[in-house]
Amino acid sequence: MSFLGRLRAPRRSPATTPTSETPSQHLPPSNSFPPSRQQQQQQHQREPLPLYLSQPFIRSTIVTGNYKTLVTLPKYVDPNEWVGVNIHDFFNNLNHFYGIIIEYDTVEACPTMSAGVGLDFTWIDTNKRQVRLPAPTYIDYVFTWVQGLLDDENTFPTKTGREYPPTFPTTAKHIYKQLLRVFAHIYHAHFALILHLSLEAHWNALFAHFLAFGKEYDLLDLRDLRTPGGGMNGGVAELAERWREMRILDV
Ligand SMILES: [Zn+2]
Repeated sequence: MSFLGRLRAPRRSPATTPTSETPSQHLPPSNSFPPSRQQQQQQHQREPLPLYLSQPFIRSTIVTGNYKTLVTLPKYVDPNEWVGVNIHDFFNNLNHFYGIIIEYDTVEACPTMSAGVGLDFTWIDTNKRQVRLPAPTYIDYVFTWVQGLLDDENTFPTKTGREYPPTFPTTAKHIYKQLLRVFAHIYHAHFALILHLSLEAHWNALFAHFLAFGKEYDLLDLRDLRTPGGGMNGGVAELAERWREMRILDV
């Protein structure tokens, strides 16, 4: 997919490592009640449907076959190696796409790592505090962190005879969680640009493949995309659900 753009080099080192953070979700004060389902529905109805959930874009994907066959473990391949190679590819492809939209993902345009109304992801700093970062800073930290892991022979061994460490499944899950957040932010904040560039079929195909692979190897946790009311309505979680209903995916 080299036509998609240059690989984006990390601009700076991350100050922290994402491990166990949870999204800050603008929860209501403890002495107030969460919005009722009716209120949530009313709020939902007032908001225009995101383009990526609208026809025809929701169906736009360059792979119309079965994603299950794409993610199936090839014969004689070590499952860890299969996961490692695929994470490597997802990361590089996501990095290519981000290289295309990077000049639009500014601190001014995206002051938080948002993936929907009230859904802002926070970073955990070295003192275990949740910090709110602008999206470009957050994504820079994620990419630098993942690139560091991919380059680490102890985490992603490439030499013959070296084994993946016992901690690899946990590491892979952490990486998946962060990449999912980057996907979610780009869908939420930059999908119009992807449409403008006529890249929506490639973009949807990449994300559908990412979801299918994550489901198959227990790397994916869509609960991270829950909205403040605790629901999965709206945003990328709804896109996954719609694709499931359309039988494009089984996630
Ligand atoms: Zn952005």
